[in-house]
Amino acid sequence: MSNYDITIIGSGPGGYVAAIRCAQLGMKTAIIEKYKTLGGTCLNVGCIPSKTLLDSSEHFHNANNNFSEHGIDVKGIKANIKQMIQRKDKVVSQTCDGVKFLMEKNNIDVYTGIGSIVDKNSVKIEQNNTQQTLNTKNIIIATGSKPNFFPGMKPDKKRIITSTEALNMKEIPKKMLIIGGGVIGLELGSVFARLGTQIEVVEFANTIIPSMDKTMSKELSKVLKKEGFKFYTKHKVQKVTNTGKEVNLIALNKKNEEISLKADYCLVAVGRKPFTEGLGLKNVGISTNEKGQIDVNDNLQTSTPNIYAIGDVIRGTMLAHKAEEEGVFVAEFISGQKPHINYNLIPNVVYTWPEVASVGKTEDELIAEGREIKIGTFPIKALGRARASMDIMGTIKIIASKKTDEILGVHIIGARAADLIMEAVVAMEFRASAEDLARICHPHPTYSEGIKEAALDATESRPLHI
Ligand code: FAD
Ligand code: NAD
Repeated sequence: MSNYDITIIGSGPGGYVAAIRCAQLGMKTAIIEKYKTLGGTCLNVGCIPSKTLLDSSEHFHNANNNFSEHGIDVKGIKANIKQMIQRKDKVVSQTCDGVKFLMEKNNIDVYTGIGSIVDKNSVKIEQNNTQQTLNTKNIIIATGSKPNFFPGMKPDKKRIITSTEALNMKEIPKKMLIIGGGVIGLELGSVFARLGTQIEVVEFANTIIPSMDKTMSKELSKVLKKEGFKFYTKHKVQKVTNTGKEVNLIALNKKNEEISLKADYCLVAVGRKPFTEGLGLKNVGISTNEKGQIDVNDNLQTSTPNIYAIGDVIRGTMLAHKAEEEGVFVAEFISGQKPHINYNLIPNVVYTWPEVASVGKTEDELIAEGREIKIGTFPIKALGRARASMDIMGTIKIIASKKTDEILGVHIIGARAADLIMEAVVAMEFRASAEDLARICHPHPTYSEGIKEAALDATESRPLHI
């Protein structure tokens, strides 16, 4: 039986980053992954493949719609879905190989198989018909999540699909229904809309991306409608059926009337659920809550103190960078350090075009908390850089405390919002005021000037360029 300081179950961004940090801190580390490749959902069927297809489809969209305005004449452009998927597979495989390299570099032992907890100091690994057991001082559960669905919309993975199948399409659908106007629905919807698919989104809430600031959902909805998206908000899906060559969806509209929609595919994107099947949690008395999440304390310890859980399998947003921070947190906590995660400042990005990015609280959340706030905004179209690149859509919104001027939330929809948001994260980590941001010199011409201008607007309602 092999002996380890730490055994990690699951090699997604939570698990593999935890493994690296544990190894850096001198722990003898093992990581177990049931699939052949490392990297979990994020690298194999999540962040990386979706962003790869978003980039490919954006090139196609620009060539079709924007090149001629730039003075580039291209004719007879065709989308080659087979090549797009092949390139995506190559990017995924290179990225997964990168994680394998990092495991070797840090002397981390990688085991392929299904890991399960036997008792608080032993983990069993089963693969095919073989099994072995590791003896370990600590365990980190980093088993992630899988697609969720509700009654009547169970994916058959043929025409009623999840994000995993949508990332491996063999054809460009003529029409795709998407259940859920959240981040997966809108990102993957964008991929296919740009390739010519007619997209219809059925969303339960009264807006798309309902958890984000309402200005963002309103603006994004406008842009996507121009791209051809059709939204059925406040609609309750009753049933989806694969009828052979198409799908049939029945939903109840705002007036409780039945509507029927048809398409060649239906993507179910109504959230993800924590994955704990076959982990042996009962053997150590660890229970899950009503959402299926493993309960942890502030140190990310389960009810069995030497067993920790991180990432999608516990509470909080299901984001790769959140899982990574938690992986580092646990490694440092076990080694006796006093790590800290500021959950309020985990940035959130939707990789549509324009991108949507946010950090901190939304306007509605702050109002509900009874905070006195002031809001500064700046339209992207007023930026010279935006006109130069023809990416003029969007707005920047900075919310600050009326009393102290401290920045409480930043919400951006616009080109490169995913990168721009980091200025706000850094500022908020240092508890900057809107005036602090307004007085910092920003390079010209850049999109970042919009942040300075929105901060000026929030501080003294005195933007310079509008
Ligand atoms: P996972 O990445 O899910 O990894 C868990 C791993 O554990 C898996 O490899 C699984 O096979 C393994 N495992 C499970 N049980 C066992 C067992 N018993 N034994 C051995 N191995 C086991 N997040 C972002 O931040 N940015 C994005 O752009 C983004 N895009 C996304 C796009 C899509 C389409 C999807 C589906 C998700 C996206 N996410 C994104 C979310 C992100 O992928 C997850 O938040 C992240 O992967 C969670 O990491 P994790 O380590 O907790 O779990
Ligand atoms: P989500 O929570 O973002 O969106 C799900 C949407 O489905 C919500 O708008 C919700 O109101 C709606 N919905 C729920 N039940 C419904 C029903 N019965 N009928 C119609 N609509 C319904 O979830 P997702 O898009 O599936 O993504 C899952 C997770 O993956 C998210 O938590 C997200 O954090 C993560 N993810 C992140 C990124 C990124 O960071 N860019 C990209 C993809 C996925």
